[in-house]
Amino acid sequence: MKLTRGELRPSYDVVIIGGGGHGMATAYYLAKRFGITNVAVLERSYIGSGGTGRNTTVLRANYKTPETIRFYQESFELYAGLQQELDYHMLRSERGLFWLAHSEPQLRNQRERALQNQHFGVDTVYLDAHQVHEVCPQIDMTGGGKRPVLGAAYHPPGSIIRHDAVVWGYAGAAQRLGVQVLQGIEVTGLTIQGGRCVGVVTDRGPIAAGAVLSAVGGYVTDIATMAGIRLPIVSHPLQALVTESYLPVLDHIVASADLHIYVSQSARGEVLIGAEIDPYSSYSTRSTFPFLASAAARAIDLFPFVAKLKVLRQWTGICDMTPDYSPLIGTSDVDRLFISSGWGTWGFKAIPVSGLRMAELIATGVVPPVLAPFALDRFRRDRAVPERASAGTH
Ligand SMILES: Cc1cc2nc3c(=O)[nH]c(=O)nc-3n(C[C@H](O)[C@H](O)[C@H](O)COP(=O)(O)OP(=O)(O)OC[C@H]3O[C@@H](n4cnc5c(N)ncnc54)[C@H](O)[C@@H]3O)c2cc1C
Repeated sequence: MKLTRGELRPSYDVVIIGGGGHGMATAYYLAKRFGITNVAVLERSYIGSGGTGRNTTVLRANYKTPETIRFYQESFELYAGLQQELDYHMLRSERGLFWLAHSEPQLRNQRERALQNQHFGVDTVYLDAHQVHEVCPQIDMTGGGKRPVLGAAYHPPGSIIRHDAVVWGYAGAAQRLGVQVLQGIEVTGLTIQGGRCVGVVTDRGPIAAGAVLSAVGGYVTDIATMAGIRLPIVSHPLQALVTESYLPVLDHIVASADLHIYVSQSARGEVLIGAEIDPYSSYSTRSTFPFLASAAARAIDLFPFVAKLKVLRQWTGICDMTPDYSPLIGTSDVDRLFISSGWGTWGFKAIPVSGLRMAELIATGVVPPVLAPFALDRFRRDRAVPERASAGTH
């Protein structure tokens, strides 16, 4: 599929800043579900060059609060039909996801997760150590002789899907409906008149807009600065690595909250290792040796065969972290400026629901109930949605 190089128009009904998954999905649903096709997606680099093309591709719905379970469940269901809807092959593969516990507090945490999920109809079960070994015999149950596995929450529908295919699938479908996807255009300012956002300033000049959506991932504080607003977001680097290809031996996704690590094997045979965010805030996408050494050592504690493999590559993305580890999405203090943000280390799996519901908000002006808990002003109202325990490696 090719992106057509359309001429930049002087004005659009909606301008979307950022050609990652969230921007592209919103553009698609605006056109498909709400008939709004005079839409431009402006991407300063190439589409999918941000977090959407750098993530570790895990899809799951096993969250821990009622608000987030409902939200990610809807996304998971939309993902299930996405290849057909967009007519694009995305190599989705159901793997089953373990959340291992190596300590009594984590054991309690994972039991609670299973019960909470079951209450909301999400398929998660608690497994004791013996059952974990039966389902995934590749795990070293001694945890490298240091941290024995005591049990796990097991989420059978947990899946992986090709990340770049998701963004290209949405882009192609949106373009077929009339949306303009424009790469190599940077937004450098916002035009705000009387408290209302009426356009953007780009490195190709100003563009008028009926509504503007910021979907710039880890760079949202730049857009907030242009708008003169403050957001409770701190951007942190998140690193990952893959090994050279190996025989297909690991058909599950295995996360350990105590070891702060998760491991899966891609369709190409690479063993993929992800971990927690770097502890410092930065926009740097430079990968580091301390991360490589430490993440590899922890992965080897769970899967000793990984010690034999060479590292193929390592990379970094920027994550827009919120204090409660939940998204920050909705209207802002500036009229007609919408923000899709706070996607941190968990935003890839949220792309379909966030795109669909953000499109609904822009088109109707009414906040969809599934988005309401994640409003930008929730910290002012003391209504945090605490999800730290579900953020991959915590
Ligand atoms: C290593 C790693 C592993 C991860 N693993 C997972 C996972 O397994 N599952 C999961 O759910 N999530 C995961 N995530 C998080 C997930 O990738 C992100 O939350 C998600 O991709 C964010 O998507 P986005 O569309 O908001 O932003 P992005 O994909 O970052 O897109 C934003 C785009 O905006 C563009 N942009 C920025 N500023 C401007 C501007 N001024 N003008 C024009 N364009 C601009 C950027 O170039 C970029 O392309 C991971 C992230 C990383 C880094």
